[in-house]
Parts: sequence; structure tokens; C-alpha cells
Amino acid sequence: MDKIKIEDLEIYAHHGVMKEENVLGQKFLLSLELGVDTCKAGRTDELRDSINYAEVAHFTNNYLKEHTFQLIEAVAEHIAEEILLHFPVKEIHVEVKKPWAPILLPMSHVSVEIHRKWHTVYLSIGSNMGDTKANLDKAVALLEAEPKIHVEKVSSYLVTKPYGGVEQDDFLNAALVVETLYTPQELLAVIGTIEKSLKRERMIHWGPRTIDLDILLYDDYVVREENLTIPHIEMHKRDFVLRPLVEIAPEAYHPLLKNSIYQLFEELNKE
Ligand code: ADP
Ligand code: MG
Repeated sequence: MDKIKIEDLEIYAHHGVMKEENVLGQKFLLSLELGVDTCKAGRTDELRDSINYAEVAHFTNNYLKEHTFQLIEAVAEHIAEEILLHFPVKEIHVEVKKPWAPILLPMSHVSVEIHRKWHTVYLSIGSNMGDTKANLDKAVALLEAEPKIHVEKVSSYLVTKPYGGVEQDDFLNAALVVETLYTPQELLAVIGTIEKSLKRERMIHWGPRTIDLDILLYDDYVVREENLTIPHIEMHKRDFVLRPLVEIAPEAYHPLLKNSIYQLFEELNKE
């Protein structure tokens, strides 16, 4: 990915653990690497096709002056997120240097360096209670309302037979491609809140539900935690997951089975 770099932007601000630092302030040096595609701007030579680095620099200067954090870790985290939210930047590398950090020893500076980005996530949604189409529409609208989630693609809504042997109505299922700044655990909490706000009832396992939202893939991450498994443990066995997904993301890649969604879908439907 191409980069636009701003190096050692000097900002006088008030971040620090010690009271005197918050009162007196000191010098910080910010280095930013913005991951963007400069190809179009390179060919057209038009500023509107690129990112205005003067705007990014002033935005950063204002943000650091208007907020006070104890840690340079927090300065880096917040400015990275703010820039990803406010400018069309896919990823960012931030270094925050603090040359006058009060450690009572000679040094050139202390610094924190981080890399943050928009993550690509595939979600599955399903409903088989009440107005199923309205439930899916509402879930998509609630995801779209989250600033840290950009809904990129929504598949068509497919009617599917229930799974798991519980007697119940047909399902309406869909798949989504989203970009997010949330970590996998944060995203799980957000979809849990959306499920609750649509009054999902967790009465019977695999039983009827107003809405079910699952994380299928998150970049190429493999997560094995008590409450979260990514890639979704059953996704390659479920036609109602793969069928809508193959429509919008046949090239998405399963990092454990080492196959594309297209290949997994073909495999499942072979017999
Ligand atoms: P299911 O989706 O299997 O039909 P639930 O929606 O009731 O069943 O899920 C129960 C739990 O599954 C959730 O509380 C969540 O912690 C856990 N879980 C594990 N991995 C995932 C994932 N990839 N996406 C969503 N939930 C997950
Ligand atoms: Mg679920």
C-alpha cells in the first residue's frame, strides 16, 4: 500500500501522568504514515483525489491540544482512530515521541509506535420470528449506524430451512461484508447489543430467534476464546451461511481450511 508521511510534527500539549505535565505542558513529536492508494492522484495531479496532508496535520494538532491523556499510548490510540474515522485512510502508523519526558536522565526521546487499520469482516445474519425481513433490515441499519462499522455489501435475503432438529418456521438469512475498527471481542459485544435491542430470546439452543448475528471471518485472524471462535466453527458446514456469502464474497479466504468461500461452497454442495 502507498503511504503519505508526516514526520515529527511538533505539538505543544499537556499529556502526562504527572500533574506538572498537565499544567505546564511540553513538546510532542508526531509521525504519521497514512496507508492510501495514491495512484489516482498521481495520474490526475488533483488534490481532490488525494488526502490533504495539511488538513491531517492541523486536525492532529487541534486534537492533541484539545484533549489531555496520561499516557502516550492513549495519545497514539486516539489520534489513530480519529484519523481513520475522519479521513479516507485504510490504515495508519503513528509514532508519538516525548523528548522532554521527566525521567531525570539524559535521552533523546521516549516514544510509542502503533499500527491500526480498518479490518474486513464477514457476518452472517438470520431471523425466523415475526417480520423476518424487517428484522434483517433493522439489524443492518443498526450496524450502519455504528461509526466504527462501515457496511460494504449486503447479500440478498434467502429463505432457508431450519437447522438443528428443532421444529420451527423457515429462516431468512443473509451475509454482510463490513469494515470495522472494533477488535473481535468489541465487535461481538456490539452484535450482542444489536441482538438484544431486537429482543432476541435465547430460550432454546438452535431454536426460533428474532435475530442471530455471527462473526464468520475477521481478516485472517484465528481466535479461540471461551466466548468467541473465529473463523465461525460451523460456517463451512452450513449452506445457509455459505450460499449468501458466496454471492458477495466468493474470494474471501478461510485461514484454517485454506480455501476460498467459493471452494467451500462447491465442496458442501458436491453430493
Ligand atoms: P448460534 O449462533 O450458534 O446459533 P448463539 O447465537 O446463541 O448460537 O451463540 C451463542 C454464543 O456463541 C454467543 O454468546 C457467543 O459468545 C458465542 N460465539 C462464539 N463464536 C462466535 C462467533 N464467531 N460469532 C458470534 N458468536 C459467537
Ligand atoms: Mg449466534
